[in-house]
Amino acid sequence: MTNLSGRTALVTGSVQGIGLAVAKALAGAGARIALHGLPGEAQAPAALEAVRAAGAPEARFFGADLTDPEAIAAMMAEAEGWGGVDILINNAGIQITVSLEDADRATWDAIIAVNLSAAFHTMHAALPAMARRGYGRVVNIASVHGLVASVNKAPYVAAKHGLVGLSKVAALEYAAQGSRESGGITVNCIAPGWTETKLIEPQIEARAALHGGDREKGIADLLAEKQPSLRTSDPSEIGALALWLCDPVAHNVTGTTIPVDGGWTAQ
Ligand code: NAD
Repeated sequence: MTNLSGRTALVTGSVQGIGLAVAKALAGAGARIALHGLPGEAQAPAALEAVRAAGAPEARFFGADLTDPEAIAAMMAEAEGWGGVDILINNAGIQITVSLEDADRATWDAIIAVNLSAAFHTMHAALPAMARRGYGRVVNIASVHGLVASVNKAPYVAAKHGLVGLSKVAALEYAAQGSRESGGITVNCIAPGWTETKLIEPQIEARAALHGGDREKGIADLLAEKQPSLRTSDPSEIGALALWLCDPVAHNVTGTTIPVDGGWTAQ
C-alpha cells in the first residue's frame, strides 16, 4: 500500500469532481491535503471534511483564482510555508464547447489561463523545492483532448495538448533529481475520457435533448461516438491512478500521458 505520510499534496480545483476524488485517494494514503478552489468557495468546508474522513492528518483550503498569476504565486508561497508541496496535482479546468469561428477572445484567454498557464505557474513554483527534497510528483490532469481532437473544442484541445508538452519538458528537466530511495521527481499527465462530473453536464444535457431529455440515452450516445468501453469513468478511478503515480515504485515513470478512456485514443 502506498504510504504518503509526511507528504503534502496540493490539488487544484479539488472541492468537487476529479480533484476531490484525487485528494481523497491521497488522503487515504496519509498525505496532508491542500485543497484548492476559488476564493470563498461554498463547497470548501464539506470537501475539507471529506478528505479528513478519508484519512488526511491535516487539511487546509487555499482559495485562488487561477486566471490570476499573482494569486497563484501567493498560494504557492503560502503552501510552501504550510509544509511545502511534495505532490502537485494540476486538476482545475474549464471547458466551453464552441466552434473556432464562434470562440471569442475571452473564451480562449480563460481556457488557456486555467487549463494551461496555471499549471506552468504552479510547477515553476513547486519543482525546485521538490528537487531539493529528492522527492516530488506532478500529476497534470490533461484529457484525451491532450492527445486527439474533437470539433468545437479548439481552446480546450490547444490547452490540453500544451499541458502534455509542458509536462514532458518538466519531466526531462527534473528526471535526474533524487534517487530510487528518495523517490525522484516525476511529471506525468492523466488523460481521462468521459468521467462523470459536473464538467460534462452541459454536453450530456445537449445530447439528452436529442433523445427527448433522456439523460441515460444522452450519455450512451456520447459514449458510442468516442469511448469504445461504452462505460464512463468514476472520478475515484482517476484518483487511484494518481495515487499510484505518487508511490516511490513509480520513480521511473515520467514524461508520460496515461489515458483512462475506455479505448478512445487507441482508435
Ligand atoms: P469540475 O468542473 O467538477 O471541476 C473543475 C474544478 O476546477 C472546479 O472545482 C472549479 O471550481 C475549478 N476551477 C475552474 N476554474 C477555476 C479558476 N479560475 N480558479 C480556481 N479553480 C477553478 O470538472 P472535472 O471533470 O472534475 O475536471 C477536472 C479536470 O479533469 C479538468 O482539468 C478537466 O479538463 C479534466 N477532464 C475531465 C473530464 C471529464 O469527463 N469530466 C475528461 C477529461 C478531462
